[in-house]
Order: sequence, then structure tokens, then C-alpha cells
Amino acid sequence: MAISRIIPVSERHSPQKTQTDRSRQSPATKNADGNDIELTDELIKAAMPRPRPVQLTKQQRWQAEQQQAIRDPEQLLELLQLNGPEHKSLLNSAKKAAKSFPLRVPLAFAQRMHPGDINDPLLRQVLPLGGELEQHDGYSSDPVSDADALVAPGVLHKYSGRALLTLSPACGVHCRYCFRREFPYADNQPSGAQLDTTLAWLSENKDVQEVILSGGDPLMLSDDKLSEFVEALEDIRHIRRIRIHTRQPIVLPSRVDDSLLDWLGDTHLQTVVVLHCNHANEIDDEVYAAMDDLRSSGTMLLNQSVLLRDVNDNVDSLCELSEAQFEGSTLPYYLNMLDKVTGSAHLEVEEQRAIEIVDGMRSRLPGFLVPRLVRDVPGYSSKTLIR
Ligand code: SF4
Repeated sequence: MAISRIIPVSERHSPQKTQTDRSRQSPATKNADGNDIELTDELIKAAMPRPRPVQLTKQQRWQAEQQQAIRDPEQLLELLQLNGPEHKSLLNSAKKAAKSFPLRVPLAFAQRMHPGDINDPLLRQVLPLGGELEQHDGYSSDPVSDADALVAPGVLHKYSGRALLTLSPACGVHCRYCFRREFPYADNQPSGAQLDTTLAWLSENKDVQEVILSGGDPLMLSDDKLSEFVEALEDIRHIRRIRIHTRQPIVLPSRVDDSLLDWLGDTHLQTVVVLHCNHANEIDDEVYAAMDDLRSSGTMLLNQSVLLRDVNDNVDSLCELSEAQFEGSTLPYYLNMLDKVTGSAHLEVEEQRAIEIVDGMRSRLPGFLVPRLVRDVPGYSSKTLIR
């Protein structure tokens, strides 16, 4: 044991030490041979009981990771080594743009970005830019007319047979192109007193067979709340299916934990998870493990992406994304044209270019790996298929 080691004189007294040095004032004690040993700070420290490492449950882990998400543009740029004097104006614009829609990026997602690359496709999705502050014709705070589709608190009824619930106002990541960045979540959360109204509406509307849990991101809620809610849906006989729109398994794969898998696997409703992933670099081994776990709970996995300028607007990137998804048993479902929300014009891809990209994908991939190119046109009874 370290405490019984005889300390060589050379270690005990360094020439720089003064009369007030604590080691000189330390009491001496004896080792097993009866010789004096001096209790230096190092020995005392070595003998102190050490705090036991805190063991987080999986649920605590994703919640802790969520709390530690990066919220400061300066911190993100520093992490990516984009903090030199030449990046000063980038930081200033990021700080200004973040005032209207704050930055939020889980560390697990930021770690998949390439340090030093200002054009990193993952960084472009989350970094506030000066372009967000410009006004452009045709861009608005509610580009898909969610307000017209609200039929009960937090219930959007746009398409026959389906109802979408804005279950959570929060997301693990803030995507700069989010069309609900100004959605009035405070008045539209099916919880508390509003929950009864929501469930009553679903019970009365017998044509609704599929409930889409969305938000925000529904997987920001605890599994206790989610499983309780799903149990309430199970009691409504005409509901057959729940569909979960989420980006959490991509940006924070630790969210796919045992308690999530338990209720997903236990419900008698059919379950579909529609992931939101825009670039193959978003998928690492932890994301693949999360996809595998979701699949093994009996859930069907689909993906929807948004076509974004300088992120994924080329055939190579999107083919790579489809292949990467399929490695994780996930089928590409929709490639969405940008919804023209205020502040996102710098990410728009022209429709003709989008058509060329999808045609290029079709010439390289089997049909089941080519997503449907669609646009959300307000007032239509389904998404509008472009290609
Ligand atoms: S995850 Fe979806 S809802 Fe959340 S910020 Fe991104 S696009 Fe918007």
C-alpha cells in the first residue's frame, strides 16, 4: 500500500520548500518496520476515500446529455476550431440570429462535425447565420398553414384518416429551417386540462386511424408520460396506429433506451417511427445501434429529409444517405422541399434542381431507396408529389 512506502528523502524535501510548507508541518507516523514516514499531501490524498463514480441509468444519461446541449454559438465555434479572428463576423451574426431562434445542439451531434470546416453539412443545419435576418417575399411564420388545421388544442387535422398532435414544444436540436419555429406551442400542448379535450376529439372522430406524435419532438417527453398517453390512445377503438416523428434517435441516440423500447414493444397499436436525417454523416455507430433497437421492438422505421442548399443538394450525398439508412433497416420515405419559413431562404433549393437530383438518384439506386420528392402545399388533402 502506498501509505506504508518509505519516502525517499529526495521526494520529501524539495529545495524550494519554505518553513510554511505544509509537508514540513505534517505529523510523522511509522511504517511496518517502525521507521518514520512523513504524511505528505500526496500520501494523505492517496489514502482518502474516493467518491464512487456516479452510475447514471440510461434515462438519466439522455436527460443529462440533453441538458448539456450546446446553446452558445461561441462554444460551438470554439469546439469546431472556428474561433480565429477571421471568424469574428460569423460569430457576431450567429449571436444576432440566435436571439430569435436560439442555437441548440447536443454534443453527440456536434462531435460528428468536421473541425475547421465552416461548410460542414451538419453545422450548416444548426448554426444561426446572418442570412436568417433578411426578409424575403413568400416567406412567413406559418408556411404550411398549421393555424388553419388546428381542430383542438395541439391537434392538427390536415389529411384524411390521420391527426397530428404537437405533443412536445421542445426539440433536442434546433434546425435552422424548422417550419414550426414560431408555432404557438403554449396554447397547443395536449397535456393537463387540454389533454381531455384532445382525447375527446380523437374519440369523436372515428375516421382517424393513425395518430402522429409530433411537436417539437415527442421523444423529448419522459417515457412515463408517453406510455400513459399511448395507453389512453389504446382505449380509443378506431385508432390502429401511432406514428412518431422524431429527430432524437439521430441527434441523441442515447434517447433510445430500455423504457422507450418497453412501451413501444408492449403497445398493441402498430408503431411507425419516422426519423429525420438529412446527411449520411449524421449516422454513426451509436445511431445504428439505436435504429437496431427500434427495429427489434417491432417498429417500422422510415426517414424523411429536407432538401437543403449546401447540405445535401447533390446526387452523391443523397445516394449515400439512402444507403446509410438502409444499413440501419430504415427506408427513405420523403424528401421534403423546404417549407418557406421566415429566416430560411438561404437554404432553399430550386424545384428544377430538386427534380434533377431525384432523377439522378433514380438512375443509381433501386426504387425502394429513392425517397418521394414532396412539397407541403397549404389546403391540399395530402403532400404534393413532385417526383
Ligand atoms: S427536430 Fe423538427 S421540429 Fe425540431 S427543430 Fe428540427 S425540424 Fe423543427
